[in-house]
Order: sequence, then structure tokens, then C-alpha cells
Amino acid sequence: MERARLILKPKEDLRLRSGHPWVYDNEISRVEGEAAGGAEVEVLDARRQLVGLAFYNPASKIRARLYSRALRAADEAFFAERLGKALEWRRRFFDPERQSLRLAFGEADGLPGLVLDSFVGEAGAGGPRGRWLSAQFLSLGVDARKAAIMKALAGLFPADGVVERSDAPVRAFEGLKPAVGAIAGTVPPSVWIEENGLSFAVDLVGGQKTGWFLDQRSNRAAAARFARGRRVLDAFCNQGGFGLACAAAGAAEVLGVDSSAEALAAAAANAERNGLAGKLRLEEGNAFDFLRALERERERFGLVVLDPPAFAKNRASVESARRGYKDLNLRALKLLEPGGILVTCSCSHWFGPELFGPMLEEAAHDAGRRLRTIEERAQDLDHPIVSGYPESRYLKCFIVEAD
Ligand code: SAH
Repeated sequence: MERARLILKPKEDLRLRSGHPWVYDNEISRVEGEAAGGAEVEVLDARRQLVGLAFYNPASKIRARLYSRALRAADEAFFAERLGKALEWRRRFFDPERQSLRLAFGEADGLPGLVLDSFVGEAGAGGPRGRWLSAQFLSLGVDARKAAIMKALAGLFPADGVVERSDAPVRAFEGLKPAVGAIAGTVPPSVWIEENGLSFAVDLVGGQKTGWFLDQRSNRAAAARFARGRRVLDAFCNQGGFGLACAAAGAAEVLGVDSSAEALAAAAANAERNGLAGKLRLEEGNAFDFLRALERERERFGLVVLDPPAFAKNRASVESARRGYKDLNLRALKLLEPGGILVTCSCSHWFGPELFGPMLEEAAHDAGRRLRTIEERAQDLDHPIVSGYPESRYLKCFIVEAD
């Protein structure tokens, strides 16, 4: 079948040629031929030179997502090749047979809209060992090619079960409804994975996002290096990732706060499983209010972790996000004892390092604290950062010491 062609307006190919994968609706001058939703289309510049092949979606502002710079079909062989490359990259830094990791990170792995997390461990405490995958099909292109993707995956990286977690809000922008449930094999209610020598229960079906925030793995270990003997506050602790890493590394005590009762119940079970229950105190509530209350009570901590959800979900909310981040960081700095460590994160790509750094400076100024930067970190290596696609550089994790 002949592919339809998207002809771009003059100069709209430049960003795409430097690596960006998205063609927005207002960048297209015309469509030649019949293009159905999800179909493969040729993207041509204003001089009719090929830019690449893309998945078409007439219902989305991101009208087309480039999946290849050369002419080729997005079939099982294509997905096998891209997944193979993704796996090869991860093998350089991880052991995918034994470690849980993000196997495919969408556009950053040349797989627009496809997110795959692999969880390796026991099916429930003491249960049989295995590997289960959590899959998010976040674009119409990959949603329509689920069968080919699953076949490619089964050949390359077989798992005991795959659960679809296509319940991310971005699906709506693609005109797709949420979809959750096992799509291959069976998936146990919880998988006990290992991370940095600790054991964590992951709820693949009901947990937030894909069940566990794998992107913070190395940052949790980095934070824990400063925990020995200190009193730690883990704000937005979710299932205790940072706090338990700190407790295991010798923190005097850890206080975790989160607004989700389910996440806190999981954190408590994780503490129990690792023999750290005596060190972890958990509070349910709004972290903003909680930090304010701690300040009123003149509580002090030697290490504070801030890992809030993304405050900036689009360009329009960047300014309100900045106020939120600043307020939070200001409060955290006020709670730090002299020489205390702040581990502060933001997972919104809209609020990049160029905004995050100055926000922290302002918070330090207002708190009357002088900061020394120890590290400016990003997400772990199973979430690649690629040139030409700034959206892939989304997680900031700055570690600073306050005088
Ligand atoms: N630090 C965690 C991940 C945090 S994800 C880890 O290492 O895995 C963000 C968390 O913030 C979620 O658990 C969510 O439930 C929680 N959250 C969202 N809004 C909140 C608020 N206003 N106060 C406290 N927690 C909040």
C-alpha cells in the first residue's frame, strides 16, 4: 500500500533533522494521499526531501512521530531491531537477567510512545523467581502495533507475564482510552525486586505509573552515601525508595511523608521486609503542610530528600511550578541543620536544569543559606538522554550541602 506523504512548511525540518521526533500539526503544509490514524507516513521537507517515516495521528497535536530516518516498515523485524539495540545499551551498565530496569524509553530508544519496564524477582515474598514486564503504549502508532511488538519482545526478552499499564493521562492526547491488565502470561499481585541490595515489593497492576520509579535507582544510592548517623526526612517518599536506602546506610532515623495511603502501606511493608521498620516513621499528608509544621516545631534534619511529582505538566504551568519548587526547597533548607544535605529532584522536563538551578539559588538566598553543590545528577542510564530530544533530559537530582 502506498504511504501518504506529509509535506512540511519551509524550515520545519531543521529541528527534526537534529534528532527531534515530533511533527506538530502547525508545521505541516499539506498531506498527500490517504493517511489513516496510526498509519506509517513519509515526512518530506518543503523541497520534498525525505526526513523520515512516522506514525500518523490526525487526532493529536503531535501529528506524526518519526520512527525511522530511512524508508522501512514498522513491522516485527523493526521492533526486534530497536528493542535489541535498547537491550544492548542496558547490558553495558546493568544485568537485565538479574536487575529490574526500564527496557524501552519511548522516543529516546527510537520507539515513539513505547515504555517497557522489566521487573525481576520473586512473585510475592518467597515465591518463584521470574521476570514480568510492565508496558505502556502511549502513542497511537505503537498502540496499533501491539501484536508485532509483543512478538518481537517474546523472541528477544521472554517474560513470565506482561501487564499493560496504558493508564497514563497522555494517552488522552492521542485519542486513546486507558487500558490496564495482563496481555501475556500471568502477573502476580506483587513482585519483590532488588535494588541497591534492598528488597522492594512492586505492584505492577495497581502501583503508581509502572509500579516502581526505576529512574531514581542511582540517585537513591547517591543520597544514601550521606545518610550515616543523620536524621533523614524523605518527602514524597512513595514506597520508601530513598528513605530505606538511607536507613540501610546507617541513618539515625528516617521520617517519610507522602499523600498516598497505598504508597505508605507499601513503604511500611518494604521496611519490615528489610529489617528496617524500627528506623522508619511514616506520615500521611500534604508534604507542603507537613514541612511547614516541622518548621513550626523547630525540627532539624541532617539530610532532606525532595522528590515531588511533576509540577509543570506543560509550558503554561512552568511559572506556577517554579513557585511550588521554590517554596518546597526553601522549607527544606530551613529544616536542615548546619552542614546538612539537601537532595532535591524535579521530574518535569518543562522545568529543565536551566530553571532548576536558579530556583534553588533563590530558595537558598531567601533561606539565608549558602549552598555548595556536591552533584548535579539526572535519571539513571536505563532512561537514556539523547541529543536533539531535550524531553529525554527530564529528571534533575541536585545534591547540595547547606552551610
Ligand atoms: N521518592 C519516590 C518517588 C516519589 S513519586 C521514590 O523514590 O520512589 C511522587 C510521590 O509524591 C508519590 O508517591 C505521590 O503519592 C506523592 N505526592 C503527590 N503529591 C503530594 C503532596 N502534595 N504531598 C505529599 N506527597 C505527594
